[in-house]
Amino acid sequence: MGEPIQPIKGMNDVLPEEIGTWQYFEACTRELLAAYGYEEIRVPIVEHTELFKRAIGEHTDVVGKEMYTFTDRGGESLTLRPEATAGIVRALISNGLLRGQRHKLWCLGPMFRHEAPQAGRYRQFWQVDVEAVGWPGPDVDAELIALGTRLWERLGIASGLRLEINSLGTPESRRAYRERLVEYLLAHEARLDADSRRRLTVNPLRVLDSKNPQMLEIIAGAPLLSEHLDPESRAHFDALCDRLRAVGVSYEVNPRLVRGLDYYHRTVFEWIMPVSGAQNAVCSGGRYDGLIAQLGGESTPAIGFAMGVERLVARVLAVRGAVRAAPPDVYVVVSGARAEAQALELIERLRSERPRLRFELNLGGGNFKAQFRRADKSGAPLALIIGDDELARGVVAMKPLRAESVQSECPIAALAAGVDAALAAATRVHRAAAS
Ligand code: ATP
Ligand code: MG
Repeated sequence: MGEPIQPIKGMNDVLPEEIGTWQYFEACTRELLAAYGYEEIRVPIVEHTELFKRAIGEHTDVVGKEMYTFTDRGGESLTLRPEATAGIVRALISNGLLRGQRHKLWCLGPMFRHEAPQAGRYRQFWQVDVEAVGWPGPDVDAELIALGTRLWERLGIASGLRLEINSLGTPESRRAYRERLVEYLLAHEARLDADSRRRLTVNPLRVLDSKNPQMLEIIAGAPLLSEHLDPESRAHFDALCDRLRAVGVSYEVNPRLVRGLDYYHRTVFEWIMPVSGAQNAVCSGGRYDGLIAQLGGESTPAIGFAMGVERLVARVLAVRGAVRAAPPDVYVVVSGARAEAQALELIERLRSERPRLRFELNLGGGNFKAQFRRADKSGAPLALIIGDDELARGVVAMKPLRAESVQSECPIAALAAGVDAALAAATRVHRAAAS
């Protein structure tokens, strides 16, 4: 026997016991996005490395040290996507979908970042990405944030989630602020950690995004970006706050919220879980009015966010427990040689007649007792018993599994209707017993 092959560090399997909760999360999300007029888009997992460098910025952590980049057989540098916005924008440009058109889009899929794996931080993780392209806001900014808030409510995890918002202004107004910030940071250079010192020269705003607790005091004393906003950005931000208040979305203005990626303009926001640690952001986003032109498309305003599915699923698990996949409706016990030979045909016919019902046919044989044990374990409310004796008489036996009730028989010719009736009775009896 060979050595077992290990999974890649930081890349996880989602096992059947967890999948019910994932599917519950995905179903709530799909339904809500459709209700707000968002359409799904699927873009490749691999893109030219250049795309992410240009979109996210060379001096961000993501591009600087987290990307999965490789040279393919044709000698091109390719990268596993670390986020979805760049690929979606690339798709809009390559498919000629801009030209004054507007798009509400969402995308679900795995992202890849070479980070130190720990709870809530993985090397392959899933995001739902939501993008509104073509609207300058602030109306769309407010609607998008309201959508997020509504999703947490639908999922039953709104309690304790905190929304922080800020405005980064325009790149022009940020330039003036950047100078003030660098002056301040230089005055405290001796106390900066290595990361912050590196950021100071290449991307000083990112110092404010540091997760190092020792940096918090220095960050707290830094000059505020909000004091340097241009008048249009100020008006945009005030209008956003007004609209959020009007629809009852609670938020906190965090003047130090800068976000990790370079392409943001004006509105930025983040939802944070009530747990300590650096893995407490569940959804983050912002406006990126300059990105599309920067990637070679016609200048188009846009805003979007990305949610971390593992962190949200963990929250759903913590708050309301695992959502289990539905059990079968019917477990089919098979007894005797003739029955073995005919059971599949019978059940396939039932599957055609009742396409919405879930039938679990006993496979691999086993004595009566073992098969009933499996039937009980399956959680099905009803067992069908296909036996040689019954077949000889043209009937199938039926037995409710989760309530005391007698076994009955049903003619094979009327089996679908018989299953309907027995299931209705079994769930009625079960409900009565439970109440
Ligand atoms: P963080 O501050 O936690 O590093 P980020 O600012 O890098 O997050 P974004 O790039 O904005 O995150 O991604 C959006 C969301 O994706 C985050 O709010 C988080 O929920 C999730 N996320 C980001 N990186 C990871 C990761 N390595 N593993 C799991 N989820 C992640
Ligand atoms: Mg990060």
